[in-house]
Amino acid sequence: MSKAFASQADLEEKKVSFTQLSEHAWAYTAEGDPNTGIIIGDDAVLVADTQATPAMAADVIRRIREVTDKPIKYVVLTHYHAVRVLGASAYEPQQIIASQDTYDLIRERGEQDKASEIGRFPRLFRNVETVPAGLTWPTMSFTGKMTLFLGKLEVQLLQLGRGHTKGDTVVWLPQERTLLSGDLVEFDATPYAGDAYFKDWPRTLDNIAALNPRALVPGRGAALVGEEQVQAGLAGTRAFISDLYQAVQAGAAAGKDLKAVYKEAYAHMAPKYGQWVIFDHCMPFDVTRCYDEVTQYPDPRVWTAQRDIEMWQALET
Ligand SMILES: [Zn+2]
Repeated sequence: MSKAFASQADLEEKKVSFTQLSEHAWAYTAEGDPNTGIIIGDDAVLVADTQATPAMAADVIRRIREVTDKPIKYVVLTHYHAVRVLGASAYEPQQIIASQDTYDLIRERGEQDKASEIGRFPRLFRNVETVPAGLTWPTMSFTGKMTLFLGKLEVQLLQLGRGHTKGDTVVWLPQERTLLSGDLVEFDATPYAGDAYFKDWPRTLDNIAALNPRALVPGRGAALVGEEQVQAGLAGTRAFISDLYQAVQAGAAAGKDLKAVYKEAYAHMAPKYGQWVIFDHCMPFDVTRCYDEVTQYPDPRVWTAQRDIEMWQALET
């Protein structure tokens, strides 16, 4: 029997955890589903990554309201993916902040990405009818670095290099060495690399490691507390990206076509990473993008709902 497309067969609800990582940082996690990071400053709250729909964001807001009544002033988009951004309106923030590179990706491919991701993850787009028409647009953008002060609390938004996407941004609390990584780092969850820059990603992880975080909220998976757990999250993500890159590069260099490279890469990766959530979902997208990068496409090609299905049928049948 062929595999169900992407995450269409994944219908089991996950258990949500809302945990405090450091004096001002909280993590909303759900057993490998997309995480949301929360910074509670002296006078305002910042939310990084919103959940996929306003209905799902309402549960994040409910958790925030259990610990503070400060206004949710800022929403940060760590990158452009629909599953991260389309819940933004629920927070009624004063500002939605993203890197200029993320803004550019929303403008260039946001519509296609929205249709594509809704098709891939029916469970994660619960009450998709609550998503406003159109796209979620940043109201402020920056390049490289931006610093916010929530009262006395310094919050840095940093572009440390390309990886999961061209526009990746991390949220960094220098005083308590806490980092919200977005999908640049995953833990016990498969990195999605369909829009990635494989050659750059490990270097960007080195730049994260150089900050020496003491706590880290990954894009998916449990919040990481203590330098040992943070290092494990960084090392696991780096190993997955490097192993996949090497396997695909070797196959492409030997003149093999995408389908042959996919079958070999899958067999090579499954023993080590097959137990991570969304492994079967991600692998066809990740290998396709990696094959593109090592052959003829320096930048990721746009995924559309139709291209998703055509690729899946070509590789999985
Ligand atoms: Zn993503």
